[in-house]
Amino acid sequence: MNKVFLLLGANLGNPATQLAKALEKIESQVGEIEACSSLYESEAWGVTDQPKFLNQVALVFTSLSPLDLLDKVQAIEDNLGRVRISKWGARVIDIDILYFNEDCIQHERLIVPHPYLPDRRFVLVPLSEIAPSFKHPKLGLTTVDLLAQCEDSLSVHPYNPNDNDAIQID
Ligand code: ATP
Ligand code: MG
Ligand code: MG
Repeated sequence: MNKVFLLLGANLGNPATQLAKALEKIESQVGEIEACSSLYESEAWGVTDQPKFLNQVALVFTSLSPLDLLDKVQAIEDNLGRVRISKWGARVIDIDILYFNEDCIQHERLIVPHPYLPDRRFVLVPLSEIAPSFKHPKLGLTTVDLLAQCEDSLSVHPYNPNDNDAIQID
């Protein structure tokens, strides 16, 4: 069985609902969800002029190969209505493969560990909740170490749907 960390994100439509639906599909089509982080509200990274994101990290056990896993998560994105318009643009769902066991994969369709993982607090903060001691196989640093040295200053806060300025439903 392969141990996989996935990053889920959404900033269009109803992000909390889409993340929940994505997790349901992951559980039925990818494999058992062993752990899930809380939901976090994150300022958009890369292309900052867009709504805040809701993010979550899941640990999943799967028998799929890396490329079959990529096909499957992309099919789930498509099925939830993802339209690919611009790089790092707004989307109803994004599912990225952060780690696949301790494998290092350099394929034209798939790079693992995810290349921007060390640069993104919206990944490291939820990841540190469920895998603080997991070591990045290339850098040899734990999630806690990576977070301590991350230079990203964009805000990442626990999601509270009752906050007045929380991400709203569409
Ligand atoms: P980023 O990967 O920087 O977060 P993104 O998630 O917005 O950007 P997508 O549009 O979702 O990018 O995916 C673009 C391509 O990235 C996909 O078609 C896929 O082949 C490729 N890709 C490479 N490595 C990964 C990975 N680890 N997880 C998911 N997709 C990946
Ligand atoms: Mg992404
Ligand atoms: Mg993606």
